[in-house]
Amino acid sequence: MAGLKMTCFDCGQVNRVPEDKLSAGPKCAACGAKLITDKAVEIDLATLQKAAKTDDVPLVVDFWAPWCGPCRMMAPEFSKAAATLKGKARLVKLNTEADQKAGMVYGIRGIPTMVKFKGGREVNRQSGAVPAQAIVSFSQG
Ligand code: ZN
Repeated sequence: MAGLKMTCFDCGQVNRVPEDKLSAGPKCAACGAKLITDKAVEIDLATLQKAAKTDDVPLVVDFWAPWCGPCRMMAPEFSKAAATLKGKARLVKLNTEADQKAGMVYGIRGIPTMVKFKGGREVNRQSGAVPAQAIVSFSQG
């Protein structure tokens, strides 16, 4: 079956979207949520695990926590990068304080840490707060 697999961040349904429809605002077949937005979406560990294993569209996760100063500094930069990368990669945030198992599952040693998944596996990771431009390069690299 043709199309790129994308997990819905709202309901977890795996959708298949033709590549030429990525820019046309595809929606989840099950719940109608937008699959591609210009925002960094907050997701939980279960959704992340599913999307990281399944999605064909690159997925970039910002592991962060509310108590982490550099994480809060990086948040607007990550949002800017999400807007720039709309349709090319999906940027999501995982709160490691709310989902405490996440750090262990993904071997996160310090935050903020960005991890990029593509084709069901991790392809890149980087720690430390960086500006939007660096997040864009990381996501495309
Ligand atoms: Zn959905």
